Amino acid sequence: MKASVTDQNNLIELQRIDSAISQANHRLKALPEHQQLVAIQAKLVAGAAELETAEAELADVAIDLRRSEVEVEQVADRMTKDEARLSGGQASPKELEQLQHELGTLAKRKSELEDGELEIMIRHDGAKQKVETLKSDEDGLKKLELELNIRLENAKTEIDREIALKNSERTLLVPKIDTALIELYEKVKASGSGIGAALLIGNTCDGCRLAINAVEMERIKSLDSEEVLRCEECRRILVRI
Ligand SMILES: [Zn+2]
Repeated sequence: MKASVTDQNNLIELQRIDSAISQANHRLKALPEHQQLVAIQAKLVAGAAELETAEAELADVAIDLRRSEVEVEQVADRMTKDEARLSGGQASPKELEQLQHELGTLAKRKSELEDGELEIMIRHDGAKQKVETLKSDEDGLKKLELELNIRLENAKTEIDREIALKNSERTLLVPKIDTALIELYEKVKASGSGIGAALLIGNTCDGCRLAINAVEMERIKSLDSEEVLRCEECRRILVRI
């Protein structure tokens, strides 16, 4: 196959553009924000489950606390009534004795209930604190998620712009190159890990970085500059500098 030197040089330019597009696409997929977002989303899911459990615990403790408060209030009310009767002076000596005995029992009961109430209050504070911490963690993660999404979008926009620019360069360049040469290039590129054309630098193919043997080099030198060369090792189109 023959192609003008200009076409061959344009083909190398096309390869540079295609390599830049391919690298940009790779960078797009490998943006660190993707992985960071996956990790944050996993933490948010785990955190939501933990928060649900903590809120259920807090609700249970709140019921316990209210029940305990009611019990203390009931005993306190009873004591107030007994004390009123005691100081009313209308009770018989036997009743007075009973009232005093009952007041003693009630005071003991109240003290026990208050101890229990204090214990529940401590548990309630702990449960409340846990819910607040989990909510604050969730808020922090959501804020970070938002920031990462913005960073990801900005990085994507930047790379997309780069790809669009390279594609427009490509669109302008392709019609300038011989169709048969383009077809060969595309075919080789598809089977050559994205590289269809490479420069011949000295006696080395820049595609596979292997040296071309002396006999082949002699043959290449004898060929017309419009002759399209192929690397014997990697089969890529070789373009002389
Ligand atoms: Zn090669």
